[in-house]
Amino acid sequence: MAYMRSVPRAWRERKIKYQLIGGKCKDCGKSFYPYRQVCPACGSENVEEVKLPERGVVEVFTVVRSPPSDFAWQAPYVVALVRLEDGTLVPAQITDVDPDEVHEGMEVEAVFRKYREQGQQGIIEYGIKFRPRTW
Ligand SMILES: [Zn+2]
Repeated sequence: MAYMRSVPRAWRERKIKYQLIGGKCKDCGKSFYPYRQVCPACGSENVEEVKLPERGVVEVFTVVRSPPSDFAWQAPYVVALVRLEDGTLVPAQITDVDPDEVHEGMEVEAVFRKYREQGQQGIIEYGIKFRPRTW
């Protein structure tokens, strides 16, 4: 697989994307995803990387039926705010489900999936999505 060609880079991306690494602010205590160096809540730069829980529930969601062209291959799809077990809100796609079956409060878990295909260059990006919990 082409995206595995650079092993150290692939491992780094796997750590960041698959393990759901977010940031936690040491000043106000808020955690967030994706990781960034400045806390979105209070503006502090006193932020550390944390591994976020991979389970949560759908808080709100939207069904996207006419997406931008990079995402057209997967329409219709569901974009949601997922509230993780520790309270962190994560914006993400919901996958492996009929959009009509998604509902608020649905229990979901993080998975690593193809995220975007950039038409002409054929660049494929992978990232975190959530799917309904199967247990
Ligand atoms: Zn903060």
